[in-house]
Amino acid sequence: MEKISKERKITYYIGLGMIVIGFLLFISVFFEVASFMSDPFVNDPFSGGKLPSMLNGVIGFFIMIAGGIVMNIGAKGAAGSGIILDPEKQREDLKPFNEAKGEMINDVISNIDAVNHLTKNQEQKEIIKIKCRNCGSLNDEDAKFCKGCGKEI
Ligand SMILES: [Zn+2]
Repeated sequence: MEKISKERKITYYIGLGMIVIGFLLFISVFFEVASFMSDPFVNDPFSGGKLPSMLNGVIGFFIMIAGGIVMNIGAKGAAGSGIILDPEKQREDLKPFNEAKGEMINDVISNIDAVNHLTKNQEQKEIIKIKCRNCGSLNDEDAKFCKGCGKEI
């Protein structure tokens, strides 16, 4: 369980990093636009200035979306996030949960075993004994001769 959560943690932080980078790219466009608006003559494209690069914003936006998906994978697992619909993978993702369930079932089974063991011991204690008519010692129900005096029961 710890191994999987560690892998997912790394995936989660990669996604988080992508969102931060994407966000910075996305925001940088606004600063470019702002500086373009504040000083349109300096940044005039016809006189060698450059237009604010909208492409950076678009790339940033897509990196943010991809980062969000990666984070989701990290948080829920590939199958859990609904991105991978491979039943084999899904089983792998759910493995720790199934293992926990299996342990619970094993606990229940061992409890039942313990109960069975107890009742079995009680049954053994309740085996009917027959008192010898001659000497009075207790003999097993199916005994043919008395343990005490050896006489036939
Ligand atoms: Zn006897």
